[in-house]
Amino acid sequence: MIDTLTAYAQAKIDGLAAKSLARTLKPTHRLDSVWVIRGGRRMISFSCNDYLGLSHHPAVKAAAKAAIDTHGTGAGASRLITGDHPLFSELEARLAALKGAEAACVFGSGYLANSGIIPVFAGPGDVVLVDELAHACIWAGASLSRADVIMFRHNDTADLEAKLAAARPGAGRALVATDGVFSMDGDVAPLSEISRIARAHDAWLLVDDAHGLGVLGGGKGVAALFPDARIDLAMGTFSKAIGGYGAYVCATRPVIDLLKMRARTVVYTTGLPPANAAAALAALDVIASDPDLVAAPLAKARRFTSALNLPEAQSTIVPIILGEAETALAAAADLEAKGLLAVPIRPPTVPAGAARLRIAFTAGHPDEAVDRLAEAVRPWLAR
Ligand SMILES: *Cc1c(COP(=O)(O)O)cnc(C)c1O
Repeated sequence: MIDTLTAYAQAKIDGLAAKSLARTLKPTHRLDSVWVIRGGRRMISFSCNDYLGLSHHPAVKAAAKAAIDTHGTGAGASRLITGDHPLFSELEARLAALKGAEAACVFGSGYLANSGIIPVFAGPGDVVLVDELAHACIWAGASLSRADVIMFRHNDTADLEAKLAAARPGAGRALVATDGVFSMDGDVAPLSEISRIARAHDAWLLVDDAHGLGVLGGGKGVAALFPDARIDLAMGTFSKAIGGYGAYVCATRPVIDLLKMRARTVVYTTGLPPANAAAALAALDVIASDPDLVAAPLAKARRFTSALNLPEAQSTIVPIILGEAETALAAAADLEAKGLLAVPIRPPTVPAGAARLRIAFTAGHPDEAVDRLAEAVRPWLAR
């Protein structure tokens, strides 16, 4: 006899498997941002967000190792208790300067950042408007806020404006939240227009720049592409191009001060390991000093979209939308047999009927490998 909890889990898994939606973790040894070993085979990965290869950069690794030797492996407590390592304020000052903001707050991860930030600025009686394809952690933050959460159509500024106007003036405060670069689609939000609409309706704007920092706008992130956009809460992560772990938000000093007092994912969680902050600082140094490296991932993505006559890549991410989960699985298996790792993305990460290969380009991908990938993908596009 199995217990009811185990039976529940097994029945759920069986249901997912019947729809080709079961998932398993596959141990993968990442040699760098390009090469991985999985199942004993060496393959080129097009599924890593380590766009600049900084997770394996000698200076970044050295900074992390030195920080461990000096400061140990953990922060020891929440930042408000004893865990506010001096490296955090150094990193925050650096990020604020990079983003042209007054101040910044570092978080343990991107997921923690968005789930902590939104409830500080929206609550019952307020509205949060979220792009339908925004990252899961924006949705998590919005629902934790207990504000009315309104979804607007993807990158559809007319829909945003209509929904915001309808919510106003009844609602208390209003917050618009969107990804800057969409993590599964690779397209960029029209931030000038979104910012204009938000301001016109007295709403605040949060932009998640997880996939822009280090690779767009000369490394400064997606906002640098929209100099006229006013972003009240400029959030991003250290988990993608920065090659590490952790996240931040830049804003005015009082907004940051309030977050440090009130965000539950600052107050009730242990500070980031100091070595992660040291690694992020070293990564930002590399980004500031090497414009060719910063420009490379987008150039690789554009080489790929041009080879296949796809719309020009707007970011390092190019989706190959195939429809059913089974098709995405079959395409990924076909590529894998050719030594190319492009992980299939299925619901609920993407909408039903929009299963895809999500291809991510990094500076280290040889042009020859990009061309080989394009040839391997071509027959799947023709279907
Ligand atoms: C990866 C990602 C996150 C989550 O960041 P983590 O640091 O991995 O928790 C948040 N937002 C977007 C758009 C992302 O792609």
